[in-house]
Amino acid sequence: MNEMIATVTQEEQFVEGCTGTISKLMRPDGSLAADSPRILIIYTGGTIGMTENPSTHCLEPYKFDYLIQNVPKLRRLFYNIDYFQFEEPLDSSAINPTHWDIMAKTIEENYGDYDGFVILHGTDTMAYTASALSFMLENLRKPVVITGSQLPIGEVRTDGEENLITALQVAAANDDKGAPMIQEVCILFENYLWRGNRSTKYSADNFNAFKSNNFPRLAKIGLGISFRNDVLWRPRSNAPLTVHYGLDQNVVYLSLFPGLSAGSIRHILNTPGLKGVILKTYGAGNAPTDRAFVEALREGVDRGIVIVNVTQCHNGMVDTSRYETGNSLRMAGVIPGRDLTSEAAITKLMFLFGQGYKTEDVKRLMVTPLVGEMHP
Ligand code: ASP
Repeated sequence: MNEMIATVTQEEQFVEGCTGTISKLMRPDGSLAADSPRILIIYTGGTIGMTENPSTHCLEPYKFDYLIQNVPKLRRLFYNIDYFQFEEPLDSSAINPTHWDIMAKTIEENYGDYDGFVILHGTDTMAYTASALSFMLENLRKPVVITGSQLPIGEVRTDGEENLITALQVAAANDDKGAPMIQEVCILFENYLWRGNRSTKYSADNFNAFKSNNFPRLAKIGLGISFRNDVLWRPRSNAPLTVHYGLDQNVVYLSLFPGLSAGSIRHILNTPGLKGVILKTYGAGNAPTDRAFVEALREGVDRGIVIVNVTQCHNGMVDTSRYETGNSLRMAGVIPGRDLTSEAAITKLMFLFGQGYKTEDVKRLMVTPLVGEMHP
């Protein structure tokens, strides 16, 4: 066992309302200065901490102790690092709003004790978690850096070690006035730091797995870490951190394809309890103009369902004034989602309904940038 990071789980402390414990990574030689950066790692699971099950040969989530033993270099950062581990580490396809509440609560309850937070997460739903947390953590003034990896940390060619170490360095970085360089939720992956609510997983096997197609990178990771001060988010108010819990799950995606019938749309819009729909349209926000199709959407809007138009394209934005095909959606009461990613659009809708906003307010806020998630 590595003697420095000794993986000794001392001072275990239950975080109220959360499943997991906070553990101290002990440093036996007492080498840390009192002002060393203090970082809390929140380990939720994902490939980074997985090992192969010898009987099925499938990757399965494993405990943080195992993960940390594979990164002896952590000692050379000279940071105070503690970790909070989900009781059952998850493949991120199992993530749901309850897990977002746990992550947000862990940050809220430990906000004063740490300079930054690193969330280890599977890549599959990382962009959803990043988007959801960006809305939930209002007035965030400390870094929340989400990372993971494409290869488990125990593998020789792993990208996990580099991602973890760089994420910790980003979380510990200060500007020349001593304020945290990053004051938002972001995704660190391989060579890039992206705004969380602008990111998308675009590759199932590249080490550079994430992209932000409508927003520049926050930092380029190469020999050094060069931050782009001109694009970093800063909270608009001096108010303290306010955490909003309980995202509403009564929303769906509806993706257009040639041949989608008005009947199918009607069927989906009649789902009991449905409050919101992210409609994935073509190009600049276009959809068929035939009457039955538009009428099916209008009926939903008239019943109070909020329908938001986002494009299936990876780059560019919805501009429904450009073509008649987009204009007819607007006339039916569909809201233009401009350059929102699908991940940001659906989590924003879940967030707004979860906060109890009424239909008209949800419509207004869906076209209002809240935390840098869309073009003003
Ligand atoms: N299925 C894994 C997960 O999302 C993939 C990964 O972590 O890269 O948890």
